[in-house]
Amino acid sequence: MENIMQFVSTRGESQHLDFSDVVLGGLATDGGLAMPKNMPKVDQKILKEWQGLSYTDLAFNVISLFAKDIPAEDLRKIINAAYTEEKFGIEEIVSLSALNEDYVVGLSNGPTFAFKDMAMQFLGELFPYLLEKKNQHLNIVGATSGDTGSSAIHAMRGKPRINVFMLSPNGRMSPFQTAQMYSVQDANIFNLAVDGVFDDCQDLVKALNNDAEYKTKNALGAVNSINWARILAQIVYYFKAYLAAVKEVGEPVDFVIPSGNFGNIFAGIYARAMGLPIRKLILATNENNVLDEFFKTGIYRPRASKDVHLTSSPSMDIAKASNFERFIYLLLGAEKTRQLWQQIDEQGYFDLTKDSIWQERQSWGIESGQSLHENRVETIRKVYDAFNVVVDPHTADGIFVAAQYKDEGIPQLYLETAKPIKFAETVKEALGFEPERVADYANIEALPQRFDVLPVDVDLLKQYIVKQLS
Ligand SMILES: *Cc1c(COP(=O)(O)O)cnc(C)c1O
Repeated sequence: MENIMQFVSTRGESQHLDFSDVVLGGLATDGGLAMPKNMPKVDQKILKEWQGLSYTDLAFNVISLFAKDIPAEDLRKIINAAYTEEKFGIEEIVSLSALNEDYVVGLSNGPTFAFKDMAMQFLGELFPYLLEKKNQHLNIVGATSGDTGSSAIHAMRGKPRINVFMLSPNGRMSPFQTAQMYSVQDANIFNLAVDGVFDDCQDLVKALNNDAEYKTKNALGAVNSINWARILAQIVYYFKAYLAAVKEVGEPVDFVIPSGNFGNIFAGIYARAMGLPIRKLILATNENNVLDEFFKTGIYRPRASKDVHLTSSPSMDIAKASNFERFIYLLLGAEKTRQLWQQIDEQGYFDLTKDSIWQERQSWGIESGQSLHENRVETIRKVYDAFNVVVDPHTADGIFVAAQYKDEGIPQLYLETAKPIKFAETVKEALGFEPERVADYANIEALPQRFDVLPVDVDLLKQYIVKQLS
């Protein structure tokens, strides 16, 4: 096997980047996203050997197919530190609970109770390692509507060579989410409560990144879901869930994924392309149905930020699905991807229906559907009544859509993207009671909070960061 892995851009530019460059650098300079030049394949013989491995051993096997520039013993240490029983509450890290022949795949056992921890905890170990090796520092600037920021803060708190500046919309997150972020007291974490909505936060971050000189001078970095290391860490749990659910390697299963930025489902698409015997991937959107619309009509039309609906599954409230570009790249290649994204810039959408690829869409193995507020509330109730299991609103969106595509004899694996405790209000609306809290979080809203309020003003943000770094 070759001992390096090269990465290329979805829009064709080849910069000969290796895994470490891609993790620290993020975006390709032609505006595309980094992708491995060649896809590693995993056959059934290997899968059989992997069945029964611990989470960390499996993660090591999958990740080392890509992270070839990190010595094996170092990679092992990074992975062993990222996925511990102490952080995830259970030895298996990812848990499966049976609902008849189907399963809820527990991905939110991590420190912030959302599946984002699966990737972010890995980054929290990987970043300091790479920075130490390159003798660099990194100042992560991000915008969050809740889950991503919280997960990043808890993964990076107290880590050497890293500061986190996390922008969140002042007063617009749930009290639990707010407390989970703002109660962190570590000196390298800066919570910025922006007097605006999530999109204002995101625009501020974009404006900073567009100032190349400022960005370089202040070593700005990102942890958003387009970072390949996040996709990679997510590929691992598709293997884990598959191997835990089937008796014999080769049996088909369907995965069900509540989707926003297309990162989670893309990891599944990639795992299947590597050789994991997934039959279908079932994508659920909420009221923001950009992705369902594409898979039903062949037209991809990102929305304007102002047209995003605020819903009771808020982590899926997105205007455009950044990682969707990676899927189109796998399907059509770099040249076509570049053209299509140029069309988005020029006319606001692209239409694949005239393309022969659209006639073959059955072979993509992707189904989609939309779930609205009343659907998710009813689903939370139904799952509780039938199985005594409480699911969160996002996971419920997935379960609702999955029912439309259920085939007897083929297990559906519902990815649980958050714990119900994070979205207590909607769960209470469905069940009449609030989800149970673990003891550590009994009184989290009462803890002292550390944050600074910032108006929507790029210059003030720039000054703020410079001041904290000096
Ligand atoms: C981030 C998130 C999603 C969406 O995941 P994508 O990778 O953006 O598609 C769904 N549910 C929850 C709870 C999330 O935090």
